[in-house]
Amino acid sequence: GNKQLYLGIDFGTSGARYALIDEQGTIHSERKRNYPKSLVGNTVNWATSWKETLFSLLDDIPASYRPYIASISIDGTSATTLIIDSKTGELLSGPFLYNESFPDALPTVTSIAPENHTVCSGSSTLCKLVSWWSSNNSDQDPALLMHQSDWLLWLLHGKFGVSDYNNALKVGYDPETDSYPSWLLSQPFSYMLPSVKAPGTPVGSVKEDITLQYGFPKDCAVCTGTTDSIAAFLAARATQPGKAVTSLGSTLAIKLLSTTRVDDARFGVYSHRLDDEWLVGGASNTGGAVLRQLFTDEQLEELSKEIDPSVPSPLDYYPLPKKGERFPVSDPDMMPRLHPRPERDVEYLHGIFESIARIEAEGYKLLKELGATEVEEVFTAGGGAKNQQWMKIRERVLGLPVSKAWQTEAAFGAALLALKGACLLDSRSV
Ligand code: ADP
Repeated sequence: GNKQLYLGIDFGTSGARYALIDEQGTIHSERKRNYPKSLVGNTVNWATSWKETLFSLLDDIPASYRPYIASISIDGTSATTLIIDSKTGELLSGPFLYNESFPDALPTVTSIAPENHTVCSGSSTLCKLVSWWSSNNSDQDPALLMHQSDWLLWLLHGKFGVSDYNNALKVGYDPETDSYPSWLLSQPFSYMLPSVKAPGTPVGSVKEDITLQYGFPKDCAVCTGTTDSIAAFLAARATQPGKAVTSLGSTLAIKLLSTTRVDDARFGVYSHRLDDEWLVGGASNTGGAVLRQLFTDEQLEELSKEIDPSVPSPLDYYPLPKKGERFPVSDPDMMPRLHPRPERDVEYLHGIFESIARIEAEGYKLLKELGATEVEEVFTAGGGAKNQQWMKIRERVLGLPVSKAWQTEAAFGAALLALKGACLLDSRSV
């Protein structure tokens, strides 16, 4: 049939991926590509690499689907920043990658921002902006700050200076008042800040040359994006307050949908806005990295089969890959506790799973104490999500229903934003 389709593209740390969905959330096509190494001298030219990847992915979409794509959205890594010429679109500086740190900017940033603000970290977008500004000081420059997803979306719609409030959080945007704070607006570089919309807001149509080249419909809408980790949360479709996603990857990260905003720098807890609700997050250093230090993935699978998840383990560990914890206990000197080690590896692993589950439970408890909505149900993402025994242990320890997330790909979350944008357009035109 002439079903409308919605395209989401995720630009993650290791590669990019698209998902093409329909209104029901059924995936019709998906594809992953690694970033090509586009070299200039000895350094990787990331902007060129992303641009090539974007258009390669559009090429990958089967031609028969393309006329039905109603809208597109893109997520990118948080705090990945580019400075472009706002007249020509030419890249002036960057990209500065999500994990690149600019400690030279910290003294300035900490002097202008409120104490413990999320921008007060060397890798924040604001540190990147201030660092660039300090070395290129000339407020005559028609320069504009863009996040990775803003820039990629701009390649499609060609409208300068539009971002979303998830990406803009780390440059200092206040999603609660939906404005830049006065301490930021009073800075000489504030003219470089993009305007900010909710994620999934239609910005414009795909540029005509691209539409013609790829065979997209001529009114195909380009919608604001979000960050990769929020897109991954959206994919799980945990859409009511009290629903949460625990990500069991190298680390243990929890994200809870809450009616209230919670921020606490001591524990690295902060909130992103999602329409009228808040996505509250915290991340522990425990998680899969410790498991990987002790067992191969094959061993994990074999040993897990022998665990009886209904029986509590008496072993009380605090598994960490190295010294230091932030959440749910803030202690930079905390040492890993993985002793005594029982003779049987099955018992050992059972004890570790149980201990990580207790840390997860403490995490949700802390978010509640800090004022967030109480958790009701937990979906699971990441490499540990496939472990049934661990899931049952966590259900018992958390006292909550725990299941594998329906979808975990950020590209799927971005496609849901495209769907949201298309629905907004439909409701406007009625
Ligand atoms: P990353 O955060 O690096 O993207 P992944 O989401 O890919 O991590 O998850 C990888 C982690 O999953 C590894 O650290 C590994 O220990 C863990 N893992 C893999 N298989 C299992 C399993 N069967 N049970 C529990 N954990 C597992």
